[in-house]
Amino acid sequence: MIKNLKTLINKNYFLFIVSNQPDYVLERTTKEELLTIEADFKAFMLKNNIHFKGIYYCHHHPNGAIPELAVTCKCRKPSPFFIEKAVEKYDIDVSNAWMVGDCGLDVMTGKNAGIKTILQMNEHSLKNMGEIKPDFMTESLDETVERILS
Ligand SMILES: [Zn+2]
Repeated sequence: MIKNLKTLINKNYFLFIVSNQPDYVLERTTKEELLTIEADFKAFMLKNNIHFKGIYYCHHHPNGAIPELAVTCKCRKPSPFFIEKAVEKYDIDVSNAWMVGDCGLDVMTGKNAGIKTILQMNEHSLKNMGEIKPDFMTESLDETVERILS
């Protein structure tokens, strides 16, 4: 994975993470645990010289239990909110921007932001796809990066 991400960085791609993380508001984890996981992830990536331009987490969920986070927010995928924010902040060429995800929600988020989409499949990916059609489907990060650079 590190090798793949470095390949993209070396080709001048900016990397972003856009993630729904409702486990705290849904009381599946504590705030401390959630923040620790997020900090550990960031530290691991930095240790490997992988710099994300932006890491965007939505901590909301309309059915959650923590009043200030149990809201219908603007940022929860499939909202394109965070992608649009990144595009604006870093003046990104949307015609050469990609959303890579492993589920229909991710594909829809990319489509809502008007960027190209790759469904990188795992064993759950084809459930709940409905009518959503990604631009490309891949089976590994190697294949995803090859697709982006081709
Ligand atoms: Zn949100």
